Amino acid sequence: MLRNLCDTHVHTLFSRHAYSTVEEDVRAAAERGLELVGITDHYSAMISSEIRPLEYQHLFNFGVIPRRWMGVRVLRGAEADIIDLEGHLFGHGMQFDRMLTGDVWVSPFTLEEQALKDVDYAIASVHGRDFTRDATPAQVTDMYVRALAHPKVLMLGHIGRTGLPYELGPIVRAARELGKMLEINEHSFDFGKPGDARRAATMSRCRGLAEACAEAGVMIAVNTDAHISFDIGRFAHALQMLEEIHFPEELLATRSAEAFIGAVGRAIAAFEDEGAR
Ligand SMILES: [Zn+2]
Ligand SMILES: [Zn+2]
Repeated sequence: MLRNLCDTHVHTLFSRHAYSTVEEDVRAAAERGLELVGITDHYSAMISSEIRPLEYQHLFNFGVIPRRWMGVRVLRGAEADIIDLEGHLFGHGMQFDRMLTGDVWVSPFTLEEQALKDVDYAIASVHGRDFTRDATPAQVTDMYVRALAHPKVLMLGHIGRTGLPYELGPIVRAARELGKMLEINEHSFDFGKPGDARRAATMSRCRGLAEACAEAGVMIAVNTDAHISFDIGRFAHALQMLEEIHFPEELLATRSAEAFIGAVGRAIAAFEDEGAR
């Protein structure tokens, strides 16, 4: 039986449509026997209609979050929106010269640089899809490949559920070359109504993705995408699918804290694990 001891895509109140605190998420992870939790709130236009540093200040003070809490390793992340077909992330090129206090900063910075400066890793996901309306599968593929190449992006979030048409081959090859991973997201398995065509299509895309990763030797992360602490560590459907296809355990990056932290350290520029704080 595959064991998955990290949940590296979970949300807190700072995502606004989520309902738990960091502490509640960590406690839930401890209670579920997890070794590691990665806090990945939305870094996205979903947070505010105002695009300015003030709205994203929960990403600027990660240093206060203990690296070990209730026996659980805690990583600091963000789920960053992909905002165009070039694969740019939210806040790209948006320059500011004032920080939270209103004082002029030493030199101008982009929101993207500031928001992702202190994350251990980012998950790149598409939520707002208007910009993809006329995109071809080749364009979507290229968008995902470019997003994955961002120095802070460790994985693409829920590409099976987003529903955009893509070509699996180039995405899987890019993940392998970059030492990065693709996500199997438990929430994709309860998306839509049971038995409806949309859920069936999502599930078959997720299975195809996992099979392609197994074949190519690409790591996957199995995450809950919990928007409330109750859901943390509940991966049953994703793990059952992986069992069915005999997914190789060594490619499951979230199988242990050691495996996941090692993968982050190899893939993300400037990642430092400080150990116990
Ligand atoms: Zn998402
Ligand atoms: Zn999410």
